[in-house]
Amino acid sequence: MKEIVPPAPIVQNQFESVRELFSKHVMPTYGRFELALHHGAGSYVWDVSGRRYLDLGGGIAVCALGHANAEITEALISQSQRLVHVSNLYYHEPQGRLAQRLCHHIAPGKVFFCNSGAEANEGLYKTARKFGHDEGRFEIITAINSFHGRTLAGISATGQEKVKKGFEPMVQGFRHVPFNDLEAIRAAITPTTAAVLIEGIQGEGGITPASPEFLLGLRKLCDERRLLLFIDAVQCGHFRSGRFQSFQRILEGVPGGDTFLPDGISMAKSLGGGFPMGAFWLREPYQDLLGPGTHGTTYGGTPLGCAVALKILDVIERDKLADNVRNLGLWIHNELESIAARLPGVVKGIRGLGFMVGIELRERSECTGFQKSDKAPSLQVVNRLHEAGVLTIPSGNQIVRLLPALNLARAQAEEGVAAIEKTLRSFEA
Ligand SMILES: *Cc1c(COP(=O)(O)O)cnc(C)c1O
Repeated sequence: MKEIVPPAPIVQNQFESVRELFSKHVMPTYGRFELALHHGAGSYVWDVSGRRYLDLGGGIAVCALGHANAEITEALISQSQRLVHVSNLYYHEPQGRLAQRLCHHIAPGKVFFCNSGAEANEGLYKTARKFGHDEGRFEIITAINSFHGRTLAGISATGQEKVKKGFEPMVQGFRHVPFNDLEAIRAAITPTTAAVLIEGIQGEGGITPASPEFLLGLRKLCDERRLLLFIDAVQCGHFRSGRFQSFQRILEGVPGGDTFLPDGISMAKSLGGGFPMGAFWLREPYQDLLGPGTHGTTYGGTPLGCAVALKILDVIERDKLADNVRNLGLWIHNELESIAARLPGVVKGIRGLGFMVGIELRERSECTGFQKSDKAPSLQVVNRLHEAGVLTIPSGNQIVRLLPALNLARAQAEEGVAAIEKTLRSFEA
C-alpha cells in the first residue's frame, strides 16, 4: 500500500456557518452529527477546524479505497478528458468491460447499471414482477430488520416499520419474515410469490450474517417452488467480507457451498468508491428477462463511472485487498472480542465478517454509563468516539458499525481499536 501524505490542515472554525447553510437550505431528513468535514486522505478525514479523524465508517461502506485516492483521481481525470457521459442509446467500452469484470467475480450472467442501491433493488423487483407476470405472481418475501433503500418500493421491501411510517400505503407485494428462518419463508410462500430477497449480511439491521444453512436451504426451497432468489449486496458486497460476495465467504468450506448461486444480486456503495453507482446482476436464464424498452436510467453506467469502478477493481486485485480485509478483519474482530471480554458491562458482543463489524452494546438499563444521557447507547458511543478522533456508524440503538476502507492499514486498525477500548471504558460504571 502507498504512503499517504495528508494535506496541510486548515485552521479555521467554519462549523457554525456550514451548519447555518444546512439549517436554512437543506431538508432536515438526516439527524447529523456536529461535524463538518473538509478534506480527506486515505482513511483519515479532517474537519473544517483542521482536526483529524480516523474514518472507520468509510462513508457507510462506500469509500472502498479511502478518501482522495490518487488512482481514482487519475481515472476520473483521464476518462473525463475523453468521454464523461453518453446516452445508453449507444455502446461504449468501459460499461461492457465493467459488466464483464463483475460477472467474472460472480458467474456468467448480465449486468444493468444504475446510480444507487435503492435503484439496483428496483431492478430486482421489476425482474421478479416480469418473471411472475404471466402466472399472476408478484410477491417478494424479504426479512425483518432488512434495509433495501428509501424509494417507495425500497421502504415497502424494507422490514423495518420506522422507514415506512407516514408514507403509507406501501407498494403492494412485499411480505416480511424473520431473517435466517427457512421455515418462516416456507410458511410465507403463497401462489402469488415470485421471489425472495435477503441481504448476505444485514447492515442497517445490525450486522447479522446469513447462516450457511439458511443460504443453502433457501436455494433449495426457491428451486422447488420456482422462486427467484435475490441477494442485496449493496453493503456486504464488493470484497467487504473478504470475498467479492458475502455468500462466497459465508459458504467457504461448507459442503455444497461452492455451487451456491443466487439468481440476482444488487450492488452499489463500494462499487463506485464514492462515485454514485449501482448495478444488478442476473444469471442465466433470467439475464434477458428485461428486454429493450422495459427498464432504463439516464446516468446508468456512464463512461466516467465505469472507469472509476474498473480502477477500483484493478487496485483491489493488484494490492490483494481481499486478503487485507480477511486478515486485518480477523485481527480487528479478535481485538474487539477481547475488549468485549474485558468490558462485559458495556459491550454485549461482536458481530460480522471482514470489514463489516458490529459492536453490540448493552441496553441502557444494563449499563449505568449509558444512563447519564437519554440518547441511544450507539449514538453516545459514536459521539464519544468523535471526541477521540474516530468516525464510526450507528446501527439502530445498540450497535456501532465499522465499515472501513478496504485498504485500511494495520497501524490504523491499531489506532482505531485503542481509541475504541478507551472510549468504551469511559462508559464503565
Ligand atoms: C445502503 C443500502 C441500500 C440503499 O442504497 P442507496 O444507494 O442509499 O439507495 C440498499 N440496501 C442495502 C443493504 C444498503 O446497505
